[in-house]
Amino acid sequence: MRILTSETADKAGQSVELMGWVDNRRDHGKLIFIDLRDRSGIIQLVFTPKSPAYAAASALRDEWVIRVKGEVKARPENMINADIPSGKVELPVTELEILAEAKTPPFPIHSDGHDINEEARLKYRYLDLRRPRVHRNIRLRSEFIRRIREFLFNEGFAEIETPYFTSTTPEGSRDFVVPSRMYPGQFFALPQSPQQYKQLLMVGGFERYFQIARCFRDEDLRADRGFEFTQIDLEMSFVTMEDVMALNEQMITSVVEGMGYKIKEKVFPRFTYAEAMAKYGADKFDMRTEDDKKNGVLAFAWVARFPFFEKDKEGKWTFSHNPFSSPAPEHIEAHLKGEDTEKIITQQYDLVCNGFEVGGGSIRAHKPELLRATFKTMGYSDERIEKEFGHMLEAFTYGTPPHGGIAFGVERLVMILTGESWLREVQAFPQTSTGHTSVMQAPTELQPAQLKELGIRVDPPAKKE
Ligand code: ASP
Repeated sequence: MRILTSETADKAGQSVELMGWVDNRRDHGKLIFIDLRDRSGIIQLVFTPKSPAYAAASALRDEWVIRVKGEVKARPENMINADIPSGKVELPVTELEILAEAKTPPFPIHSDGHDINEEARLKYRYLDLRRPRVHRNIRLRSEFIRRIREFLFNEGFAEIETPYFTSTTPEGSRDFVVPSRMYPGQFFALPQSPQQYKQLLMVGGFERYFQIARCFRDEDLRADRGFEFTQIDLEMSFVTMEDVMALNEQMITSVVEGMGYKIKEKVFPRFTYAEAMAKYGADKFDMRTEDDKKNGVLAFAWVARFPFFEKDKEGKWTFSHNPFSSPAPEHIEAHLKGEDTEKIITQQYDLVCNGFEVGGGSIRAHKPELLRATFKTMGYSDERIEKEFGHMLEAFTYGTPPHGGIAFGVERLVMILTGESWLREVQAFPQTSTGHTSVMQAPTELQPAQLKELGIRVDPPAKKE
């Protein structure tokens, strides 16, 4: 039975079987040393000329995949490598099988990889993922999500998936669209967030929902933004702002402290939008000192009491955060009348950490007239409101509990936890900065037959100047 290299530490004297990759080989005259790597770490293999595996071992090269057997041996006191779990032992190999040979990787995989160009790294992402830094990031992300799930299940949340093929949900971005074969000329939109579905789940009586949700937004790509990203998305019924913030503060605190991080200030400090703008000139800000930065401290803060509306490029009112939010109780009357639009405050709250907005949510408008008033303020006609949001307005007429929720950006949080400054360092298969997929070729052209089936005619691309 195969065991992991990390499990060999206390197995001196026992026969074991290991499998993994050749991380490194050193020929010391007669002795051949191989570092064998698996998902748990590395162990030193030793091949002596007496071993029946010796001849085969001289052929081994980096990244070959092998199976070995031998009896674990304690290393002499002065040879212990305290940096790795299996550093106290080594494995003199008596049996070696080559499971797969490997070409020389197109770039070094033991370095931090920062100096290797992105195109190469992402074309061979499966090799780049072997890089210890990237490997650790992806594992840390998995560990983070595991702890989030555990916390939420303990709090009585149900994990529920919502559709990817849907109609547009406004989050302030461009939609990605998918053509329908059954209805040529008609399109699905990929969700910018599960916002409407999670509210419909509250109408559906679940009271506490969460999802590790993929969101799709066709935005300009930036260091902390990709076409698709993941949110910890949740919604709760019968709650106030305080309830949602308290539960989420507890979640974030227990998860990150459980992972060994230090939080600068608990309870998280709170700012109104006006205070944040006055103090930091921005609604996301970094409260860390130089020392905090060196020590990997996390400085969380809540920002609330945002203006509900702002003017768009054409001078028309649009929502500042989320059209499904409810105005603050004292502004509901004005909101319903469509008065004092610039003064209306939304029950929105954002979580800031180390200069990034890492989460945001709100108490929602759960009465149809409140939601309708929001779209009226934005200048939507009754027909347009009915067409785009009639389903929500109708749902809200069937006994909808007061509800609210929040969503956290997984990549942003994991970037902060790992100290990375690019989204792609914490996604297994990220897009390139030119908007292509890693490893696979996309986007690509479709076959004429596919286009015909979809009823789509493509104009030749416009010539670039
Ligand atoms: N749907 C919002 C977002 O994606 C989050 C929320 O209000 O729950 O930012």
